[in-house]
Amino acid sequence: MSFSNILGQDKTVKRLRALILSGRVPPAMIFHGAPGTGKFLAALEFAKALNCSHTAHREKPAAPAAPDPDDLFAAAAPEPAPAPAPEQAPAPAHTDLSDSCGACLSCLQAASGAHPDIRIVDTEMQAAFLDEAETTNLKIDTLREMTRWAQQKPMLSAWKVFIVRDAEAMVTGAQNAILKTLEEPPPGTVVILTVSRKTALLSTILSRSCMIEFGLLPRQAARSLLEAQGADASEAAALAALGGGSLEKSAEAGAFLKRVSALRPGDPSKAFKFTAGLPRDSHKAREEVRTLLDLLLARAREDWRAAEGPDKSRLTALLRRTLDLRRMADRNVSYALLLETALLEGERAGIKLEDLVRPRQPGRG
Ligand SMILES: [Zn+2]
Repeated sequence: MSFSNILGQDKTVKRLRALILSGRVPPAMIFHGAPGTGKFLAALEFAKALNCSHTAHREKPAAPAAPDPDDLFAAAAPEPAPAPAPEQAPAPAHTDLSDSCGACLSCLQAASGAHPDIRIVDTEMQAAFLDEAETTNLKIDTLREMTRWAQQKPMLSAWKVFIVRDAEAMVTGAQNAILKTLEEPPPGTVVILTVSRKTALLSTILSRSCMIEFGLLPRQAARSLLEAQGADASEAAALAALGGGSLEKSAEAGAFLKRVSALRPGDPSKAFKFTAGLPRDSHKAREEVRTLLDLLLARAREDWRAAEGPDKSRLTALLRRTLDLRRMADRNVSYALLLETALLEGERAGIKLEDLVRPRQPGRG
């Protein structure tokens, strides 16, 4: 992996590479954007490139600037890097000073997730650290531990990088616990918070951090990434379209399509079974219902174009009603009710649940 594997975020990656080249890395950064747009992966790549033996940073560590409390960028100048260990094999020629080489000891450790100076702080790490079941919140004790680590010197590299994944999971006390580290970062410390909802963070955190934005992925980039994850070409195209630029949404749509395909065609209780199988998380359930309505709309439009006579008026009525339901899905209407209504309306117009995930038969309608 290197920055070249972050697809669909060209402008953002360019900015990150420029920061590495400039030697002025903000000690507190917030990578924000919709879920499944590459924030965490980019944070890992950034940490890896920052600590690679071959990037500009390692060769020309930034000289400590005169401290300026208002300059976010000056506070965290790294200490000079230690010389590479003599037993290290000579790495292949790597000339890009803004990206990792992928071959030095630091890069290899980063790639295996075992770099002593790159720490991921998330609910999984928290469960191991506190020796308890995984929870959805990041607690004060966990972030206190992170600030303690931040006080220690880096073990291998010039920089200590902390990546707080899905930082909106931090409870308020936890957010307060890291404020001081963000305000007065120990030299060579970088804290990256990845968030989907910036508004969940305290304004004091937002104002101290350098914001790095991740836009929705272009359709082609999402397709390539889904194919790299093992989807075949047509599946990747469908999931990229349903994801709307978020790989997380694509994955949810994929799981949803799998559930639809598993229902036995002609089973009279399938609408009920499907509703019963909706995710417990109401936000996710609503997303699934939206996906289903979008699929129903797409299929109804397609059939409508080919239809004539009474079929056409039946499909016109279905389109109208489905559009209404789609609008209601954005408001606070029971999603189970929406779903069952949509399925019944669809079947009445000749569109079955299982039809929604199959290519349309030529000549039908
Ligand atoms: Zn390297």
